[in-house]
Amino acid sequence: MLQDEYIEFAIPKQKHIALIAHDTKKHELVEWVEKNKEILKSHFLCGTGTTARLIVDRTALPVKAYNSGPLGGDQQIGSRIVEGNIDFVVFFWDPLASQPHDPDVKALLRICAVYDIPVANNRATADFLITSKFMNEEYERKVLNYNKVIQGRLEEFR
Ligand code: PGA
Repeated sequence: MLQDEYIEFAIPKQKHIALIAHDTKKHELVEWVEKNKEILKSHFLCGTGTTARLIVDRTALPVKAYNSGPLGGDQQIGSRIVEGNIDFVVFFWDPLASQPHDPDVKALLRICAVYDIPVANNRATADFLITSKFMNEEYERKVLNYNKVIQGRLEEFR
């Protein structure tokens, strides 16, 4: 186990989904959630502050709200991914506007890549993901076994 290159973590059938949208993309995400309400109601939803509240208002689905993105909401979601408590992300970010919290956005996308988290950055990808057969079953994501990397680094420094 300690020697394996990758460690597998299950994305369960009932997923923990984070929903985030930059301001110009909020309408699009809220509409996408409304359209896919029947599927999404079987999962656990959370999101950054403003996005989460807009979704609750429009769909009445339960959505746990973290802080607003510019106040650290993206970082909170990133930390939940690291802890294994979020395993699916729909993040409609704006490719045409600079954001005050751009480093946080980049950090979240990086953490999604590190932890092999499915992440949809636009409507088309979100449509493909939500209609995937893996929405109805468990999926094994693969994460680099950093224990092995640490072991190697310790030997290097000893
Ligand atoms: P918001 O944050 O949902 O609070 O607007 C999203 C973001 O800007 O990352």
